[in-house]
Amino acid sequence: MFYTSTRGNQKIESAQAIACGIASDGGLYVPVSFPKLSITELSDLISCDYQRRATTVLSKFLTDFSNDELAVCVQKAYQNTFDDNNPAPVVELTSGVNILELWHGPTCAFKDLALQLLPFLLTAATKKVAPDKTIVILVATSGDTGKAALEGFADVPNTEIIVFFPCNGVSDMQKLQMTTQYGGNVTVCSVNGNFDDAQSGVKAIFADKEMRQLLAQHNLEFSSANSINFGRLVPQIVYYVSAYCDMVRTRKIEFGDKINVAVPTGNFGNILAAYYAKQMGVPIKKFICASNNNCVLTDFFNTGIYNRKREFFTTISPSMDILISSNLERLLYHLAGSDSALISQWMKELKETGCYKITPELHEQLRQEFYGGFCDELQTKKIIGEMFHKYGYLCDTHTAVALHVQQQYYHSTGDQTPCLVASTASPFKFAPAVLSAVCNETISGSDFEIVEKLSSVTNCQIPEPLAKLRTLPVLHRNNIDKADMHSFIQNTLNLFG
Ligand SMILES: *Cc1c(COP(=O)(O)O)cnc(C)c1O
Repeated sequence: MFYTSTRGNQKIESAQAIACGIASDGGLYVPVSFPKLSITELSDLISCDYQRRATTVLSKFLTDFSNDELAVCVQKAYQNTFDDNNPAPVVELTSGVNILELWHGPTCAFKDLALQLLPFLLTAATKKVAPDKTIVILVATSGDTGKAALEGFADVPNTEIIVFFPCNGVSDMQKLQMTTQYGGNVTVCSVNGNFDDAQSGVKAIFADKEMRQLLAQHNLEFSSANSINFGRLVPQIVYYVSAYCDMVRTRKIEFGDKINVAVPTGNFGNILAAYYAKQMGVPIKKFICASNNNCVLTDFFNTGIYNRKREFFTTISPSMDILISSNLERLLYHLAGSDSALISQWMKELKETGCYKITPELHEQLRQEFYGGFCDELQTKKIIGEMFHKYGYLCDTHTAVALHVQQQYYHSTGDQTPCLVASTASPFKFAPAVLSAVCNETISGSDFEIVEKLSSVTNCQIPEPLAKLRTLPVLHRNNIDKADMHSFIQNTLNLFG
């Protein structure tokens, strides 16, 4: 099983794709062809637990890893790290609408599913392609990815992780999540300025050749945990396979029945994983791609034109506030018959003009499988209130966006296919917006007060990782200027003398 760049033709194995992260031509690594789960293999998974399902799916994509290696990675990632040892439970909201809850992990959001496993895949991959190297993960975060990466990499042998967050621009709760992080290999540091300052600082360090040489002399190598690494995509395929098995096991559907999947989308990684599950053999009919006010993808599915030149909105579903959905490049590559020259051309246009237009044939193909819709701020709050008061189900702001667009799709098409809706965060992670939606009033108070109030108003339990934050000691107090990020890293890694 080989991998290639969406913008080139060189073929490599999966360990190298994971160790490299992004291809040197700027493209993303994709499998050259899709491995299949036969009908027997899929039906055999129905009676298996999540770890078995994960090992099976991973073994299809990562053929240069042994089954034992993969089973060990999976066990380290998912044993005792998620509620009830079930990383991705499916709950029925109402007849025909099922929620895939992806927030039972250590940071209460769906990135845990991938970031708990990535460190083990990355270290196993590095062992194959560059033995004896220690990986240094650098992250600039506006909040959630940083914490999920810290939890994933904490105390993983042969890794170091350094997270920079902007002094202005993370919530008190997010800040505390990061500054209380345990682990002998973790460093957390606030940077004066906003997210762009932290992010451009990290990008400059990644691009700094001298810095890389200095690291190499110490047997260290930079890597990134961002969502374009194939090692982050493959764990996400697992939960769609798993959800389908659970829906059959609990008699929501018969084996072989088709389902639709609705996903609150930002960088297009989560919904792309569902598409990959379909290519493996999971019977999925339609992908419902839900956006918030930053509806660049909705417009793209409707017009065939991707146009990032537009106003950027800061919303109550901040993890979807994105104007460039990187993983869309992978989907287009597959649909365009692996035409890397064409993809390179479009991505060049996107970079230079902020816009590209796909061919009418490809647009038609896309529309057969994908529906794009968006949900504004008022509608987001309205759905949260409705779901709670009508069904007793408390959902977060991102999940609400997906539920709204899912309803929009079903109302406008009359489709009867059972639906699986991805729920990407605990409502307690976005407590102020959720509480104000449930109570229909504006809310004041500290993050903790609001979390407690949300719990008492709704009778829902605060997830353990958020509840215990209050009592954890603050371990990281570093604060620097952007100009000092280089030397901070050199000090942290002992690169002097
Ligand atoms: C990251 C994130 C998303 C967006 O997922 P993509 O894979 O980037 O499309 C949606 N909801 C939450 C809560 C997230 O953290």
